[in-house]
Amino acid sequence: MRTSAGKGKIVIISSPSGGGKTTICRCLLKKNPEWRFSISYTTRAGRAEEVDGREYHFVDKTEFMKLRRRGFFAESARVHRYYYGTPRKPLEETAKKGGVILLDVDVKGAFSIKKKYPQALSIFLLPPDVEELKKRQALSVLEKRLKRRGTETKAQRAVRLKNAIAEMDRFNRFDYIIINENINVAVSAADHMIKSWTVGVTYFGRNRSKAYSVFE
Ligand code: 5GP
Repeated sequence: MRTSAGKGKIVIISSPSGGGKTTICRCLLKKNPEWRFSISYTTRAGRAEEVDGREYHFVDKTEFMKLRRRGFFAESARVHRYYYGTPRKPLEETAKKGGVILLDVDVKGAFSIKKKYPQALSIFLLPPDVEELKKRQALSVLEKRLKRRGTETKAQRAVRLKNAIAEMDRFNRFDYIIINENINVAVSAADHMIKSWTVGVTYFGRNRSKAYSVFE
């Protein structure tokens, strides 16, 4: 049985900044080269190792707003003082034609996508300490990771950490949570979740209910 949800899998990978989603997405794509990555548009400047059109499409604010007004984005959000948007077309194409598309988005973006595409799978990565709800320690892990990455100034790191506190409070609304303690384990867990996951649609027959997968 097929529903309007289509055949493809939209997979949302989210975490607080420094939680490891970019690395996990990269590893998943290496393992599964046929999967797509949703290349967002952003108004932030590209980092040294980033290539326009590969990690992001880098645009200025005027261009971004023009696209937003045109309904080009499935969702867009202001994250850490810059704008980010997920283009709608690759999601629609994947949903219709099949395959897997990975989205690396913040928590707000994850919820907007899930609202628009309820069939999407949402995975949240947490730094290890949060398991015991030691948020302070978790934040210090994040801070260390951000520092090591060295791509933000002290003030930018402070904004990211403040946002991380708010984001971690909402993790229970995701379909799955992965404690990102070991990257290899986290990647295999995500890989397994994506491959084994199907969305059940409950169909009430005459005497029984039955769940159908909307994906083939
Ligand atoms: P960064 O600047 O470190 O690449 O990304 C900053 C944050 O923005 C990360 O949490 C990343 O997941 C998120 N992000 C990247 N692209 C999008 C997008 O299209 N929409 C939303 N809502 N967040 C995004």
